[in-house]
Amino acid sequence: MEDYSRLLEAAIKARHNSYAPYSHFRVGAALLTKSGEIITGCNIENASYPAGICAERTALVKAVSEGKREFEAIAVAGSLEQFDEAGVLKDELTAPAFPCGICRQMLREFVDPESFLVLTAAEGGKVLKYTLAQLLPESFGPENLA
Ligand SMILES: [Zn+2]
Repeated sequence: MEDYSRLLEAAIKARHNSYAPYSHFRVGAALLTKSGEIITGCNIENASYPAGICAERTALVKAVSEGKREFEAIAVAGSLEQFDEAGVLKDELTAPAFPCGICRQMLREFVDPESFLVLTAAEGGKVLKYTLAQLLPESFGPENLA
């Protein structure tokens, strides 16, 4: 798949399910399997703050728990929440949001960091694209324990 617009749209849509009453920073993620399937996730915060989970890991644990382990790319859409007059979450993003360190490491377990792509939706419809190796250089992975 060369055009990731479908993946980015899925991330933006998944952001609507975000549960972020504390940070108000809503994130959606969409993980693309090598067979072309899209699994989405959103951040889910908790009154006990460390119990919350990021959108990227929500998508990853959903996928792995369903038996999917081969991935091509992930799209991330995150931004502080803004609502229109009707109270609907706006899809406009104010800045790119990148996966946190824990999410980068969890993705690293299941992908080739040199080819796996991380796309992040930015303001004005821009999209930034990196390989996981660029975001997590000199990483530690399963082969280190083989
Ligand atoms: Zn994270």
